[in-house]
Amino acid sequence: MAVLEEPIREPLKLRNLIDGMWVESEGETLDVINPATLKKIAEVPISTAEEFDEAVQAAKAAFPDWRRTPPLARARCLFRLKELMEQNFEQLSRIQTMEHGKTIDESRGETRRGIEMVEVATGIPSLMMGNNLEDVASGIDEYLIRQPLGVFGIIGPFNFPFMVPLWFIPFALATGNCVVVKPSSEDPISQVKIAELAIEAGIPDGVYNVVHGGRTVVSAMLDHPDIEGICFVGSTPVAKNVIYPRCGQTGKRVIAQGGAKNFALVMPDADLGRSIAACMTSFYGNAGQRCLANANLVVVGEGLSDREFEAYYREVVDTFVGAAQSVTVGYGLDESVQMGPLRDQAKKRNVLNYIEKGLAEGATLRLDGRKFKVIGDYPEDCFIGPTVFEDVTPDMTIAQEEIFGPVAMMMKARSFDEALEMIHANPYGNAASIFTNSGKWAREFQYQCQCGNIGINIGIAAPMAFFPFSGMKDSFFGVLHGQGQDSIRFFTESKVVIQRWF
Ligand code: NAD
Repeated sequence: MAVLEEPIREPLKLRNLIDGMWVESEGETLDVINPATLKKIAEVPISTAEEFDEAVQAAKAAFPDWRRTPPLARARCLFRLKELMEQNFEQLSRIQTMEHGKTIDESRGETRRGIEMVEVATGIPSLMMGNNLEDVASGIDEYLIRQPLGVFGIIGPFNFPFMVPLWFIPFALATGNCVVVKPSSEDPISQVKIAELAIEAGIPDGVYNVVHGGRTVVSAMLDHPDIEGICFVGSTPVAKNVIYPRCGQTGKRVIAQGGAKNFALVMPDADLGRSIAACMTSFYGNAGQRCLANANLVVVGEGLSDREFEAYYREVVDTFVGAAQSVTVGYGLDESVQMGPLRDQAKKRNVLNYIEKGLAEGATLRLDGRKFKVIGDYPEDCFIGPTVFEDVTPDMTIAQEEIFGPVAMMMKARSFDEALEMIHANPYGNAASIFTNSGKWAREFQYQCQCGNIGINIGIAAPMAFFPFSGMKDSFFGVLHGQGQDSIRFFTESKVVIQRWF
């Protein structure tokens, strides 16, 4: 099939958005490379702490007026932003494919999910309401109001360059706060495009700022006295060792979402055809670079004899491998492609190292993603094909660590309890799935499993915008989550008023 037209023809020179103006940074620049074609598509600045401070000062100055803007008027800005996103839907999606590598269908899905965050935040007049009770004592009434706090910092990861910062931005703005967004410098273009549309939608100068960069900007954000809270999504080492402790020291609210290693249980009574089909998008969608991707598939032998269990394991693995073999790999702007490249060469090297590690640990490489064919004439630097290991045991590194690539581990558990123990022995707790036709096992799983997002016959347990994006253990650091009512509470202070009239 023909490759869709690329919306970026010449490399873009990205700038920071400070106080409604696009300004050039004095910092050095990095090249943003399309991982499928290896062509340069943008230059992104690594901004300085001073530039970050300018953005915070602009946001701080804009806060009093924005806070006083009635929630309905703030919602109207978001309605306009949503409309502009709809009008630019295809262009926004193609940009994600160009800067990240994911397929155009995955990008369209990401755009849709991002827009949904804006849609839900437009309900702010209802969402932000407090509550009250008359006569808490004779003639005394008490009520709770929600008030915005000021300026929030938002730090995005590379794997969902469009959607993830939108888990926070619309809710922060709708509640009357101002934001400074630091996109991933690996694929920062989507966030520039959203901010351009936000300005066009009439969000006032200074309310919405974007500062590109790396650790310097993040450190400045964590230490800045005028930043009230931080929303971070990225790897566990950064969430756990940098963001969360520093926010504790500086007294900031924090949502810190980290990495994952998700398990999918396949029970003996599962609908195998549909379960494996769901697994394909879960294990290989976004080339495995998804915090909700399943990575470890556990075939559960509950109630089966040893012989039946062995036969069932074989059937599941063979069905999985058969489906994985047919996943097509290529440039995501080719609509026939089912899996794009990894974001860059270093990420591919990391995945290749894990494949070596799996072999050294004694797992069987059933499908070798190092031998694959890219559709079309593209350099193979960032591509890798679907990979399947079998005979994987829970003690192996490949079963324990986040690989963040298209590598599936086939595992066995004699019983449901043993499978659950495997999940609980893993430090992460982002998501887990069960495939079964039994209400009993589904209910036990939802009840007992210590993971924040549970899929029952669902491969990617992604919460909609009106539910919190949960996560437990080493996948989440904080109390309130992003999205839904949690995020309204995160972005507001609950003030209680007690009144009596003489
Ligand atoms: P990352 O931790 O490398 O980077 C995330 C952000 O932090 C980037 O903006 C980066 O510039 C900044 N950063 C990186 N190292 C830093 C440091 N030492 N100090 C300060 N700032 C630093 O993560 P990534 O590679 O961009 O994203 C992939 C990771 O994100 C995976 O682990 C994935 O599971 C996770 N993720 C989690 C969720 C979730 O909801 N839990 C969602 C998406 C991605």
